[in-house]
Amino acid sequence: MRMDKTSQYKILDEHYYMPAFSRDMAIVKGAGSKVWDAEGKEYIDCVAGIAVCSTGHCHPAVVKAICDQAHELIHCSNLYYIPHQGELAKKLVEITGMHKAFFSNSGAEATDGALKLARVRTGKKEFVAFVHGFHGRTIGSLAVTHKPGIREPFEPLGLKCTFVDYGDLEGLRKAVDDGTAGVIVEPIQGEAGVIIPPDTFLTGIREICDKTGALMIVDEVQTGMGRTGKWLAIQHTKAKPDIVTLAKGIASGFPMGALLAREGLEFKKGEHGSTFAGGPLACAAALATIGVIEKILPDVSRKGELFNKGLRKYNPRIRGLMIGISIGDKCPELQKKCAEQGVLVNCAADGNLRLVPPLVITDAEIDRVVRVIDGALGQVML
Ligand code: PLP
Repeated sequence: MRMDKTSQYKILDEHYYMPAFSRDMAIVKGAGSKVWDAEGKEYIDCVAGIAVCSTGHCHPAVVKAICDQAHELIHCSNLYYIPHQGELAKKLVEITGMHKAFFSNSGAEATDGALKLARVRTGKKEFVAFVHGFHGRTIGSLAVTHKPGIREPFEPLGLKCTFVDYGDLEGLRKAVDDGTAGVIVEPIQGEAGVIIPPDTFLTGIREICDKTGALMIVDEVQTGMGRTGKWLAIQHTKAKPDIVTLAKGIASGFPMGALLAREGLEFKKGEHGSTFAGGPLACAAALATIGVIEKILPDVSRKGELFNKGLRKYNPRIRGLMIGISIGDKCPELQKKCAEQGVLVNCAADGNLRLVPPLVITDAEIDRVVRVIDGALGQVML
């Protein structure tokens, strides 16, 4: 009997790949908000590589930028000036309101860079982060990531971090002291299931940091690059961070991360570096991505509102195209039912359905997604 293509992927994976992920599907093609699995089934993709494929899959402008650059130069080194790097840094400075940029290859590395910058410029050692917060899985970023199940097996992590309840300014006031180099916060907690704090929480963190000289590090890895209807989620508030981290949606799936910092905060020669970070292909992909997002950004909040209208009875938490709904332990079943109906969704922590579709998703696609989720929820909640 001939084996289907998904099974072929599965067998290789089981034999040769470390089993760190749970998966049962192979995605082999994408265009716009749609993807196709190895058997040719079509889906509207509301996972988008977990908030990565901001411009949709294989946006022609991004593909062209990567291909054009690949024909010229794939890699040189940060020993030299790199095509597109300065131009991208300038663009990111403009859209974030920060002063200077530094590139990495992932969100976790952006976190590590931010922690290093905070330590080296404040001369302080410790950090404060939030319960259910997620900042990455390198040894450094893991130290400020809360989830005990993924952090504790790797302790000691060599970095002291105190965790405070998300939203608890009183707790934060007690935790931040003269030894605190920085407070790291997601403006909306993504991995926790799209948890949106009151705006006063973020401005409150700013005030507390100002009192002690701790730096406010805003992790926009998931919320940034237009996801919430503004370039940064923190831009919905009056709070001005000291350091911002970006990754995920920055280059439409080409691996890249960045940190940006306000005036007076920068790495000096030799303090940080990376072989691949800010390479020509990544910078070309990011510049093209920003060009696309500039055009669609004004429409992101309206599209979020369409989701809101369609799913209102389930009390969604929505900011732009970042959507969370508390489902509980039926969430995996819902995810499966939606996939059967041709819609990919994702369950974040604690039974929270998370929708982070490409920002280019069309109104008609949103309408279909809403109908599928509504129907599937009706079935699993019976
Ligand atoms: N920070 C946040 C808020 C994230 O959501 C993630 C990934 O999910 C990271 C950091 C880590 O990014 P990466 O997986 O690219 O290392």
